[in-house]
Amino acid sequence: MPRTSKKISSYKLKKLKAQEEPCHCCGKDDLFFAYRCRCSFTICQDCMDENVWGMTCNGITWECPDCSEQNGFGNQ
Ligand SMILES: [Zn+2]
Ligand SMILES: [Zn+2]
Repeated sequence: MPRTSKKISSYKLKKLKAQEEPCHCCGKDDLFFAYRCRCSFTICQDCMDENVWGMTCNGITWECPDCSEQNGFGNQ
């Protein structure tokens, strides 16, 4: 007997528990760490590293490309 029902419920549970946006840049989810804006824009560490030159002008805050909010790098 296939145990699909168990698989689906645990998948749903994981999704519900996470409630996290995937990276808006590369689409990767299940992120260990990501930068998030209050507008729900999310960017992963890898994409931030690649795009940091276009996201910040002072190295202290990064500007959300969606809402232009200034977000700090460190403490969230
Ligand atoms: Zn990414
Ligand atoms: Zn934003």
